[in-house]
Amino acid sequence: MIKVTPLFSGSKGNCTLIQSDNTNILLDLGFGYRAILCALERYGLRPKDIDGIIITHEHADHIGALAMWTKHNYTKVYVPSQIAEYVSMRSYCTNVSAVSGSFVVGDIAVEQYYCSHDSIACYGYRFGNDGNYVASITDTGTFSADTIQFLAPCKTIVLESNHDVEMVQRGPYPYPLKQRILSTNGHLSNQQATLILSQLIGSNVKNVFLAHLSEQNNTKELAFSTAVDMYAKNNLVEGRDIFIYVVDQYHNEVTVE
Ligand SMILES: [Zn+2]
Ligand SMILES: [Zn+2]
Repeated sequence: MIKVTPLFSGSKGNCTLIQSDNTNILLDLGFGYRAILCALERYGLRPKDIDGIIITHEHADHIGALAMWTKHNYTKVYVPSQIAEYVSMRSYCTNVSAVSGSFVVGDIAVEQYYCSHDSIACYGYRFGNDGNYVASITDTGTFSADTIQFLAPCKTIVLESNHDVEMVQRGPYPYPLKQRILSTNGHLSNQQATLILSQLIGSNVKNVFLAHLSEQNNTKELAFSTAVDMYAKNNLVEGRDIFIYVVDQYHNEVTVE
């Protein structure tokens, strides 16, 4: 059994709880420390119950609370090898494990997926326990057949659906920032997320968390309807054949196995 609970997601911060029967993992620690503690408390968890923290990349919306956490708690932190030193220097981590490829936390097998992002290095992750898989891919500007292959065995995926391309183009951001968001080193748009989902039809994927939404350049309704419309065109009904949840920046209560 393996289950996913996104706690916070968006440009202001990210943190996701991954659990098997015996292991609790936090994927990224990029929201307020106190807010994360409160969210964990709702699930009966205290910092000492967390077996490992896994980091995707070094941007503040993913490691913002790591210094606070590691100042108060001795939790093992798994960091992509390329950014292990960077992260160690910016936190109180004395228990950093530099990882690459695949590794194990408790009874959860973890595999990395290389993301195309404007950071030193960025990874998505797949988590496996007892033949069940879930994955999270955010902060990547492009996708390929490898992406589909990585996600296909999973029953539940957290997938970035950052922006609507037209909203970015028409929006108030300066041109260089628009270019950055839309580049292959930026973030996945609603349109790209939907293309990925369309290629996953017929795979194991049954539950989709649309995540890391931009507050400026997207709406929950638009991210949701872009995906639902694609499924409808393929004669698949949301709520029956596939389940889609749009993750909120500040408050989430959905757990999916
Ligand atoms: Zn980032
Ligand atoms: Zn991010």
